[in-house]
Amino acid sequence: MPMSRTGVVYHEDYLKHETGEHPERKERLIATMELLKETGALTKLTCIAPKKATPEQIEYVHDASYVEEVRMRCQSGRGMLDSDTILSQDSYEVALLASGGVIGAVDAVMNDLKSVFALIRPPGHHAEASQGMGFCIFNNVAIAARHAQKQHKLKRILIVDWDVHHGNGTQHIFYDDASVLYFSIHQSPLYPGTGKTDEIGTGDGKGFTVNVPLPGGIGDAGYTYVFNEILIPIALEFHPELILISAGQDAHFADPIGGMNVTAKGFGHLASIVKSIANSTCEGRIVAALEGGYDLTALPYSVLSILNSFGDLGMDIKEPMTAPPALKDEVSSQVREKVKEVKEAQKECWGVL
Ligand SMILES: [Zn+2]
Repeated sequence: MPMSRTGVVYHEDYLKHETGEHPERKERLIATMELLKETGALTKLTCIAPKKATPEQIEYVHDASYVEEVRMRCQSGRGMLDSDTILSQDSYEVALLASGGVIGAVDAVMNDLKSVFALIRPPGHHAEASQGMGFCIFNNVAIAARHAQKQHKLKRILIVDWDVHHGNGTQHIFYDDASVLYFSIHQSPLYPGTGKTDEIGTGDGKGFTVNVPLPGGIGDAGYTYVFNEILIPIALEFHPELILISAGQDAHFADPIGGMNVTAKGFGHLASIVKSIANSTCEGRIVAALEGGYDLTALPYSVLSILNSFGDLGMDIKEPMTAPPALKDEVSSQVREKVKEVKEAQKECWGVL
């Protein structure tokens, strides 16, 4: 069988970041890998073994003193980076392997693969330059973007963050930087509280941060509307050479933390929209990196659905549980209003709006 041009990054060492009963726990990856095996999807994908990022690579976006602090604290046993971010003895090494996994995924799509889903943990998009937070230690996607610029000389990278939370860390790292376009769709109000429509970047980076904060419960229809109205036109005008996705599936209707009512099938649809942008701008190059997603059934099905779209696996994706009656097929007026507000905030930066 010829090598599949869609791949996954995975390593058993990702389970060594021990968090106990915490929502961000190793069972998330165990259940996801089990479903990929059970359904036969894994045999249709190219498996990529990650290597640890070097501290120098982590320092593309993080302060050296913070990287050293994480290393020292893990060496001394268990600890907390903030009130909800646990460090276990192996967490530093696992966090290096998580960032290294996304770096390896970037290398793979710059060589012979088209799309890769890095099934990693801990997640990264809340991690700030000098402070981990919100279950995140190192900002995997931001590090991988810098790697793509340094190693592969890319000039324009698009980050699509569909995690239900705003990626404050990623936004801040690239806030004055026109070479990385950061697009986030997230629930608001919700942790961490950043990501308002008027946060659009600063200096050269003005317009290269695009935030779409939305009220809870808007479902697949609302997400699709936002992608069509905001993401597609801006992304086509920006014309990225690589697309990274901060792929948190905590917007699923069954998620215990988020409340956006997206379905597993819906995530597959979002993936196909991003794929069509990638096909028309950057030869299809997409790297998705796992962020949130805390329901142990919804997350695996959502990941399967995304990979099904990336790789044209031809699988019939079923919802693993019954969707709530509140799930909307229509685009609410609140979503339309918010889209108008985003266009107003961004229109001087993007001719297409
Ligand atoms: Zn999240």
